[in-house]
Amino acid sequence: MYGRKRVYIGILTILAVIVLAIYLLFIYIIVTRRIGLYYYIMIGIIVFLTIFIIILMMGTLAVVLSLLGKKPIKVLSGFMSFALNTLYPEVLFFGGLLGIDRDKIMKSFAEINNNIVASKNVKIAPEDILILLPHCLQRTTCVHRITTNINNCRRCGKCDIKGLIEIAERYGVHIVVATGGTLARKAVKNYKPKAIVAVACERDLTSGIQDVNGIPVFGIVNIRPEGPCYNTRVDLNLVENAVKNFIDRRYIQ
Ligand code: SF4
Repeated sequence: MYGRKRVYIGILTILAVIVLAIYLLFIYIIVTRRIGLYYYIMIGIIVFLTIFIIILMMGTLAVVLSLLGKKPIKVLSGFMSFALNTLYPEVLFFGGLLGIDRDKIMKSFAEINNNIVASKNVKIAPEDILILLPHCLQRTTCVHRITTNINNCRRCGKCDIKGLIEIAERYGVHIVVATGGTLARKAVKNYKPKAIVAVACERDLTSGIQDVNGIPVFGIVNIRPEGPCYNTRVDLNLVENAVKNFIDRRYIQ
């Protein structure tokens, strides 16, 4: 477990320590002071915090064990989903309070997600895989409407759309360019993929991964040499490896 993945896990751990400190404070108040009427409220809070802390710690442990063991632990998958999906807004918020860059946290989330998806070893037919791309990958000067049909691309090579189409053709998977979350959701509804390789910025990637909870998504953060949403690029090797990771080997010649 190295690199960026530690960011998300670190914030989860700090969150657990803070909740634990509040928990101990409540216990101290109950034991040392006369709180009369508030007694039952305090007991209620302590019961809630006990459950929350147990789930939080189990969730953090499940994520760490999955990354260390390279295989998800089935009995802990509910806890892991809680730590990764339910607590995601809290982790972002706490990370912000700690002065950690949001993009860094989102990238960390995406990397953990990718590791867990890869370790699940999902193997499916190419026609059940969808490559989902953002419109900002297209060269802004290009006049061809690839959002309605990506095959309108003339493959001039001025942007990465050409290479991405070639990957989709090489492996026989679906490929779509979506302008925004609504159209991305629509594409998922139309194609009903069993696995998705998504390219996007950190924010769209993390919200997309959570939107399709249940479908394994391999998320690849785009490269933004000219700033956000403008002539972005993507590492084609990462996309190809993600597609290969999902495909049942019987379909690869
Ligand atoms: S490869 Fe060329 S034709 Fe295709 S989308 Fe990019 S700029 Fe347009």
